Amino acid sequence: MKLERSVGVAGFLSVWVAQGAAAQADPAAARAAIDAETLRHFQALVRMDTTSPPGNEKPAADYVAQVLAGEGIPVQTFAVEAHRPNVVARLTGNGTKRPLLLMAHTDTVNVDPAKWQHPPFSAARDGEHIYGRGTVDDKDSVAAALMTMLMLKRNLVPLDRDVIFIAEAGEEGNTEVGIAFMVEQHYDAIDAEYCLAEGGNATRVAGEVRYSGVQTAEKVIKGIDLIAHGVAGHGSVPLESNPIARLARAINAVTQWQPPVVLTETTRAYFGRLSEISEPAVARRYRDVLSADPAVVAAADAWLRTNDPTKASMLRTSISPNIVQGGYRNNVIPSEARATLDVRMRPGEDADAFRAQLERLIGDPEVDVVFNGYSPRPSGVPATLDSAAFVAIERAIATHYAAPVIPMMGTGATDMAFLRAKGMQCYGVGPAVDEEDGPLGFGAHSDQERIREDELYRFVRFHYDAVVRLAGTAP
Ligand SMILES: [Zn+2]
Repeated sequence: MKLERSVGVAGFLSVWVAQGAAAQADPAAARAAIDAETLRHFQALVRMDTTSPPGNEKPAADYVAQVLAGEGIPVQTFAVEAHRPNVVARLTGNGTKRPLLLMAHTDTVNVDPAKWQHPPFSAARDGEHIYGRGTVDDKDSVAAALMTMLMLKRNLVPLDRDVIFIAEAGEEGNTEVGIAFMVEQHYDAIDAEYCLAEGGNATRVAGEVRYSGVQTAEKVIKGIDLIAHGVAGHGSVPLESNPIARLARAINAVTQWQPPVVLTETTRAYFGRLSEISEPAVARRYRDVLSADPAVVAAADAWLRTNDPTKASMLRTSISPNIVQGGYRNNVIPSEARATLDVRMRPGEDADAFRAQLERLIGDPEVDVVFNGYSPRPSGVPATLDSAAFVAIERAIATHYAAPVIPMMGTGATDMAFLRAKGMQCYGVGPAVDEEDGPLGFGAHSDQERIREDELYRFVRFHYDAVVRLAGTAP
C-alpha cells in the first residue's frame, strides 16, 4: 500500500512507518512489520559468506539489487571483477540541493569457524542478540540503508536532493574493486554533498545510551621506514658504524619524542562534550586537554597515553614502530637495518614536513627517513559540525536515542577517506552497542560478532529519520 499523496518531513517524522491508512491506524503494527522486514533482509545478508579474502560480494550485491529493483528503484552495477560488484541505487529529488550518499560495504573479514559458538553465517538469534560475521561490520549499515531506500520510496517522501545508496565491495582491504574504483571511474554515479557511512556508534552503559559517537574525521596512514647504513664486517671487531645500533638510537629518538598536540574542530568538541558526561576524575583530564596552559595539556596528555591510548592518539600524529629488520648471522655485522613506522597523520598534517622533522630528531646522516609507500587511503577534509547533515543527524539522535552527540576522529581509516578527498562531507554513524561488548569479544572482527536486535531496529529508525530530515522537502 502507498500513501495517496506525499506529505512533508514533519508528517513523516511523526508517522515514520506510515505505509497507508492501516499503518496510520495501528502504528505499532506498522512498526512491527518494518522490524520484521529489517530482520529478514539482515539475516539474509549475514547468511551469505562474503568474506574477504577471497572476496565474493556478489550474492549480497545481487540480493540488495533485487530488493531495490523489486520496489521499483533503479539500480546500476559496477564491477572490476564480476564476483565483486558494487551496487548503486538512486532516488531522485527535485534538485534543489546536491545529493546525499548512503554507503555501506557488503564484504566482511574472515572467520575461524571453530572459534564461533554460533556458526558465523547463521545469523542466529539468541537472547537479545543476533550473531554472525558482519552483524556490526557492516551488514547492519547495508540493511539500514536498504530499508531507508525502501521506505523513502514507499512513503513517497518528497526529496530536495537525490538519495544515492552504494553497497560497495572491497572495503576490507581491496578498495581497488570498491570505493577507489568508483571514485576513479564512476564518480558521477555517487557524487554527493554529504555521505553517511559506518564509523560511528552509540554507547550503551547499563542498558542506557550514554552518548552517540559520529565520526567526522579520520587519521591518514603514512608508512615511514628508517634505514640505517653501516660498514659490513666481522662480528669479532665491533664498529661504531653498526647499523643496528644506529637504528636503535633512531627508534629511541622518534619514540621518546611526542609530536605536538594539535586539536581540531572535531577533537575539541569530542573532549569538551565527553567531559560533560564523564565521571569527575576522568572529566577533568578531558577538560585539561582543552586548557590554554601547555603544562596542563601535557599532564593530561601523559595521563591519556598511559590510561587511554586511543584518546591520546587523537591528539596528534602518532608513531608506532611495528617492524624491525636487520642482520642474518651471529658473527656478521650487517650493512643495513630497517624499522617500519606506522604513522597516523592527524588531518592537516604536512607529511613532508613531518618526515623532515623525524630526520632532524634522529640527526644521523647514515639513517634515511623515507615514505615506504604504505598509504592505503588518501587524506581528505574533515566534516564540519555546523552542516545541514550534522544538524539532521544530531536531531535524529536526540529523537531516537535521547543522548548527546560526540563528534569523533577515527584513529583507523574508513572508505570515507576517498570521498573526503573529493571534498564530500562524510559522517560515520552506527547502532548502539553495549560498552563492554567489544572488550568481551563480541565486537567487529571478533569471533562472536553480534548486534542487539532491538538496536538494529532502532538504528534503522534513526537512519531513516536522519535521511528524511536531511533530504526531505520541508513542509
Ligand atoms: Zn567496516
